[in-house]
Amino acid sequence: MSDEERTLIAAELRERLAWLSGLTDVGVPRPVAGAAPPMASPEPVAPAPAARPAAPPPAAAPPRPGRASTEPAAPAPAPRRAPARSATPEWAVPAAAAEPCPVPATGEPEARLAALVDWIGDCRRCALAPTRTKIVYGQGNLHAEIMFVGEAPGADEDEQGLAFVGRAGQLLTDIIEKGLKVPRPEVFIANVIKCRPPGNRNPETAEILACQPFLEQQIEIVKPKVLIGLGKFAGQWLLKTAEPISRIRGRFGDYRGIPVMPTFHPAYLLRNPSAKKDVWEDLKLVLRHLGR
Ligand code: SF4
Repeated sequence: MSDEERTLIAAELRERLAWLSGLTDVGVPRPVAGAAPPMASPEPVAPAPAARPAAPPPAAAPPRPGRASTEPAAPAPAPRRAPARSATPEWAVPAAAAEPCPVPATGEPEARLAALVDWIGDCRRCALAPTRTKIVYGQGNLHAEIMFVGEAPGADEDEQGLAFVGRAGQLLTDIIEKGLKVPRPEVFIANVIKCRPPGNRNPETAEILACQPFLEQQIEIVKPKVLIGLGKFAGQWLLKTAEPISRIRGRFGDYRGIPVMPTFHPAYLLRNPSAKKDVWEDLKLVLRHLGR
């Protein structure tokens, strides 16, 4: 080997040693001050096709208020999944009482109901107030053994201020008088909410939450032996469940120690007369429970 060849080999070896001494523990070249940030991978990155410019890097999340900048980065968010269907509706979770209830816990039902009506007053506690004509408190025997709970007033009820006076109300009268064999004035009838939703739309959670102390007090005052929930909203409200009415009807549940029989709403029966036989089966269970 000639001197010239030895010199060339020695120079190449020095060059390689210098390069190797500049590697980190994982084989990534150490950053040089002022140089571009190191790449995440030592693997060479294939050049992007000229026609498709490389996508911009994702924007860094802004620092969270109150967290020191030296905190470790938050873990990547978990992949989004469809929310699990809860069997408990939002309004079933007890909320802090917005206002104290002025209705006496004991005393004559008539006096307690008068205190309740006073408390409701010209109620503006939810979004239904501006469009209602009359507040529909509910009506009937304050000493009733059977109490019906419906969903909300409709157009006729809103106009007259009475619960279940339209076509669905006439069918409810048949259910009470022909099915249960009691005069309608012998039962008490109320709704989950006391004002008509515009266009008879479904009640919203905020409306149910705002209005439910009134129904709670009505049930406290009447203290029926059995509650009959008419339709989805009443059945679900009484049983604090989100199960569909078709699943919860036909068997007793419980509302604060009072047996509850959910069944179909008379308005549903007007559209689906074939479901009347199911309601009749539910009423037979109520009659048996009352020993009649
Ligand atoms: S629906 Fe109930 S809470 Fe809402 S305005 Fe009427 S009475 Fe008040």
